[in-house]
Amino acid sequence: MLSKKIYEKINTLIETKDIVLNANMAKYCTLKLGGNVTALVNVSDEKQIIHAISIAKEFGLPYHIIGNGSNIFVYPEKYNAVIIKISKNMANISIEGDILIVQGGTSLALLSQKAMEFGLSGLEFAVGIPGTIGGAVYMNAGAYGSEIKDVLIRANTISENGDVFVRTNEELDFKYRYSKLQNNNEIVISASFKLEKGDSNAIKALGDGYKAKRIATQPIGIPSCGSTFKRPINNIAAKLIDECGLKGYRIGGCSVSKKHAGFLVNDNNGTADDYYKLIMDVRNIVLQKTGIYLDTEVQILGG
Ligand SMILES: Cc1cc2nc3c(=O)[nH]c(=O)nc-3n(C[C@H](O)[C@H](O)[C@H](O)COP(=O)(O)OP(=O)(O)OC[C@H]3O[C@@H](n4cnc5c(N)ncnc54)[C@H](O)[C@@H]3O)c2cc1C
Repeated sequence: MLSKKIYEKINTLIETKDIVLNANMAKYCTLKLGGNVTALVNVSDEKQIIHAISIAKEFGLPYHIIGNGSNIFVYPEKYNAVIIKISKNMANISIEGDILIVQGGTSLALLSQKAMEFGLSGLEFAVGIPGTIGGAVYMNAGAYGSEIKDVLIRANTISENGDVFVRTNEELDFKYRYSKLQNNNEIVISASFKLEKGDSNAIKALGDGYKAKRIATQPIGIPSCGSTFKRPINNIAAKLIDECGLKGYRIGGCSVSKKHAGFLVNDNNGTADDYYKLIMDVRNIVLQKTGIYLDTEVQILGG
């Protein structure tokens, strides 16, 4: 059996407890739905990442790196692929003055919290973003007018062959929800951020304000990937969806949040088909009514 052979090869470097065969991706993403993949491998260092990639390639399978799974959706019911999850063992944070050096598996929200505790300003915007540093750099995550690109100095990356790079902010070519990593497939091992020393109380107040705003305006606690669509040029996806009368629009167990039209949520045991059809319906209706095409921000794996 293919998965047994893959397991045996991966297991030469990665412990049994870190390999899940026929993994149901609903368990590994904030959307809480999605298909099954051939294997999910929790990796703890560069060597294990390269090893898992090489085994996937040996068996002719696609592979995907994931962090916290807060912006991914595995669409096929059965997806022959290897998912390589950057584990919590790659989550070290060190601080040198106003510079934070963090590993790729670090929680962005936790880092934002720590920065506030250290009296460092610049990451308050990230207080409620449930991703890892790797996912945040890859996506150039942002909120409330700030983005990762505003604070990142450099990222240490590896290629799928194990070549090591130090990528500067400029080299990462950040744009709205884009970094060069989306084209060169390099993997973030760690990143350095330059913050500003400031007044702890003021920094905390700003972060708390953003947190309160999220709670007031977003369906926090209901499975989702956050905003499903990117902002179209000179427009706002949530506004367009709302103006098309789609708040509450439902396909099976998934719907357009009534609280925030940009969030497509899995609010009643939805399936991957429900979520996919909902994306397509919302996109088509908005296109018909406004002429504007909504591109997905959520990364659809295997779709
Ligand atoms: C409730 C909620 C609120 C959200 N709010 C925001 C928001 O305000 N702003 C915002 O920008 N996003 C937001 N998001 C989306 C999401 O949290 C971000 O995109 C986050 O940065 C994704 O990080 P992740 O670790 O979960 O990445 P994943 O979802 O695991 O992966 C996303 C992409 O990053 C790649 N990737 C992951 N780790 C690495 C790595 N180490 N090296 C290279 N590539 C990697 C993956 O291959 C994938 O293509 C929200 C999501 C939710 C559920």
